[in-house]
Amino acid sequence: MTNLNDFRAHGHQLIDWVADYFENIEAYPVQSQVAPGDILQQLPPAAPALGENFDTIFSDFQKIILPGITHWQHPGWHGYFTANNSYPSVLAELLTAALGAQCMSWSTSPAATELEQRVMEWLRDITGLPSHFSGVIQDTASTATLVSLLTARESKTNFAINTGGFKNQPSFTIYCSGQAHSSIERAVKIAGFGRDSLRKIAVDSKFAMLPGALEEAIISDLSSGLVPLAVTAAIGTTGSTAVDPLKEIGLICQKHNLWLHVDAAWAGSAMLLPDLRHMIEGVEMADSYVFNPHKWMFTNFDASAYFVADKAALIRTFEILPEYLKTKEGDRVNNYRDWGIQLGRRFRALKLWFVIRSYGVDALRQIIGNHIGWAADFEHWVQEDAQWELLAPAPLATVCFRYNPHHITDEVALTNLNQQLLESVNRSGKIFISHTTLGAKYTLRMVVGQTHTQQHHVAQAWEVIKEAAEKLK
Ligand SMILES: *Cc1c(COP(=O)(O)O)cnc(C)c1O
Repeated sequence: MTNLNDFRAHGHQLIDWVADYFENIEAYPVQSQVAPGDILQQLPPAAPALGENFDTIFSDFQKIILPGITHWQHPGWHGYFTANNSYPSVLAELLTAALGAQCMSWSTSPAATELEQRVMEWLRDITGLPSHFSGVIQDTASTATLVSLLTARESKTNFAINTGGFKNQPSFTIYCSGQAHSSIERAVKIAGFGRDSLRKIAVDSKFAMLPGALEEAIISDLSSGLVPLAVTAAIGTTGSTAVDPLKEIGLICQKHNLWLHVDAAWAGSAMLLPDLRHMIEGVEMADSYVFNPHKWMFTNFDASAYFVADKAALIRTFEILPEYLKTKEGDRVNNYRDWGIQLGRRFRALKLWFVIRSYGVDALRQIIGNHIGWAADFEHWVQEDAQWELLAPAPLATVCFRYNPHHITDEVALTNLNQQLLESVNRSGKIFISHTTLGAKYTLRMVVGQTHTQQHHVAQAWEVIKEAAEKLK
């Protein structure tokens, strides 16, 4: 494979294999059925001294690796959130790998920089974000949130912590809801605030942040001599896709001069649908906003769309200019190395460009709209069946529910029952779902959002789940 002729031949072979894989993906069990160590014990402990041929390696891929793969691109994927790809995205990723360009500065690949600028403007506009937002692609939402809190830290201290560290600084506090993603807490730790400075604000019966409780916490911290610094609001929490009241939170942030970051990692793609944009009402008050096309916009991992209101503050937080990175273009171009943590950056804009152009915005809207409609069907089935219980509103395409056939109120018994159910469903290999806890209740999560999921897959999922439940009786 290390010579060009072999590369050409095996490249064709692999594209055929990939097309067959997509064509036959439903023949695979969604969840890998291997036990811990099964794969490892088949892998030689020492690296080969001599090169091996393609056929041997590829045969091992099929024999050893593939059984240990959980098939996230299976249309029966209904767990966690989706991490979708699509045909145009996979092809663009091949080109990205071939070009192997580092997209740190404009001059290290002008097209990569200018395409990134343009597709981020497209994403901003097609999801209804304010026109004053500037965008940059980050690897993940976790990174984007860290970048946001670091920028908040510097903006609110006149860039003093970048210079002198935390010495002579007051104690800052950060706010999110108790349902916020774990990446918020991680970012708070890494940014140096310390986990104790994170206030997890109470939520209402729909699992959305209570703005009154937020403001009380801010006022209480102020009166203790602490310095409230930032709020992160979630549009679509990971547990139940709850939507924090952004407008009310934004007004509180303005009143108390706090930074506002919006985490719409999963739900952001649904903002393609104008009818749903009431969920981000108030977003013009945000300092930063992130959503993941790599979840629900058919663009393979990783591609996280990060938007900021004040790009100067972002760049000033991260800019560093050693001699070897100085270029003559100066301010006339974007140098995305200064818009985040990494220096070297992959050419991720290409796959977004391929995906948006291949589908067209109307079809992207249509697919996501279908997912939301089919999830509503599922929600209906749960509600109509007295043996099942809906555990949260389903504003988008994630349904939180549990099996409760005898209306048991013993939480331990219900947890056990639903744990068994989850395991049995996933062991079937036909579909995959995951779980969370909501208000201390063990909760099953059914996500509708895989690129190739159709209505009949959702209907089948309900049948699989009901059948597995019957067997537990
Ligand atoms: C998935 C998710 C994240 C983390 O996304 P990564 O891109 O994997 O870091 C953060 N917040 C929310 C609400 C999520 O759903």
